[in-house]
Amino acid sequence: MVGDSKTDYQAALAATARPDRDWRMLLGGQLRAASGGATIATINPATEMQLAEIPSATAGDVDAAVKAARTAFDETDWSCNAVARKLVLLELSRLAGRDREIFAALDTLDTGLATLVSTGVTSKALLRNLEYYSGWADKVYGEVVPVPSQHTLDYALREPLGVVAGIYAWNTASLFLGSKIGPALAAGNTVVIKPSELGSLSALHLATLCEEAGVPPGVINIVSGGPEAGRALVSHPGVDKISFTGGSATGAAVQAAAAANITPLHLELGGKSPHVVFADADLGRAIGGLVSGAFMLSGQACAAGTRVLAEASVYEQVVDGLAAAVEGMHTGDPADPATFLGPLISAEQRQRANSFVADAASQGARLVASGHSEHERGYYVAPVVFADVEPGSSLWREEVFGPVLAVTRFEGEREALCLANDSDYGLAAGAWTADLGRAHRFAAGVRAGTVWINSYGSIPHTAPFGGRGRSGYGREGGRDAIAEYTQVKNVSVELGRESK
Ligand code: NAD
Repeated sequence: MVGDSKTDYQAALAATARPDRDWRMLLGGQLRAASGGATIATINPATEMQLAEIPSATAGDVDAAVKAARTAFDETDWSCNAVARKLVLLELSRLAGRDREIFAALDTLDTGLATLVSTGVTSKALLRNLEYYSGWADKVYGEVVPVPSQHTLDYALREPLGVVAGIYAWNTASLFLGSKIGPALAAGNTVVIKPSELGSLSALHLATLCEEAGVPPGVINIVSGGPEAGRALVSHPGVDKISFTGGSATGAAVQAAAAANITPLHLELGGKSPHVVFADADLGRAIGGLVSGAFMLSGQACAAGTRVLAEASVYEQVVDGLAAAVEGMHTGDPADPATFLGPLISAEQRQRANSFVADAASQGARLVASGHSEHERGYYVAPVVFADVEPGSSLWREEVFGPVLAVTRFEGEREALCLANDSDYGLAAGAWTADLGRAHRFAAGVRAGTVWINSYGSIPHTAPFGGRGRSGYGREGGRDAIAEYTQVKNVSVELGRESK
């Protein structure tokens, strides 16, 4: 069962860091190396040391995975045995719970995710998604459709799509693993999962649990690899649906590749989410929310509230409050349970964040606070806050994916909405206000898939989550994900007339 003790987690960290662990993909129920034996070295972002070598799937491996998923879908009763699916998902969730410390340790070591988040959010989300969607497996109904003739019976079946490709980013790897597998399997599909090459270990650990959980061979396939493996998967004609989580530019490339086979897509992409403070807000709570909303995951969260809008009459108070909070922040070892700000994922990402910081002043922004980051190794970046950021500047418009917060001022509700909506993205938004009417007006007017009022950042697995514009389309979570992984077939039956 889930052990909450520090010792369990430390033991899991130590066991996970074993350099001799042989990481394998899952293809058609077999744990396998990549054909040809190619591997990719994974680096611990906190130490810059090699952590593991993972298989680098070839196009042939991807093809084998898709074929195994196709066979399991077409030639077994998986897609029509809802009760069996429910029990398998439930058992997989139980094993994910049993190994929760391992999943948390893997996310921390592999991606630099703070222990606070890997134990409290991602590893928990993996088992919660599997558990929640096990409950959906035997509750996916079609419906009888009203038609003008009493001699016709019309009904709409809700059917699975077939083979689902789930490709995702590294930043909350265990969470994505559960949110892709859970609903796709519950709805009766089979899956080929390709995690990010920067965060594959949790998926490769899950691969070792599938047989024990009773997952029939081919129902879950897991291939590791980089963009090449991703490209092979999204252009494969045997894939019936692609669920992609990653950057907006990659999402556009995935959409172009999917167009060749007219493969349906679900895209969960980047963001630059507005976080608004009205003058009537509880400023103490709002500032706490602004800080956690922007710096959670060291700023590497798709829904991070990185564009702060503060009403003019409280602007300086908000800026001062943010400055005081951030001046006191230190980056730290993500394996330490007290750490809030771990490293960024890679040297490239650190360089990208630093270049936004270097360019901000030349774009007229005012540096008001910088936190602390002293490490001999690791891809750490100190958190920073810029005030007076021009809404046309790159810092205001582009996703940094690092701990860089931009603040600007507004006058009144209308300008707040205008500035909030002046973005190519539309993933999430937040507002702090004591005025109930204003809160609802903001929620109605803001262009975002998720809105938080007087809080920021919680994403329950039971609620729909997704974006608009360059943040993508389609929804993960709750019953919307079941709709995402099913298709409707209408059946019209001519009943004839009673013979006299
Ligand atoms: P990325 O786009 O570089 O990679 C995502 C995945 O796509 C990886 O598995 C990668 O190997 C694969 N890939 C790369 N090129 C591909 C191609 N041409 N075809 C198919 N697959 C390909 O993203 P990243 O750096 O891993 O993640 C960061 C980005 O993800 C940020 O923009 C962040 O906002 C976004 N993100 C969005 C959400 C969301 O739910 N909306 C959640 C997390 C992260």
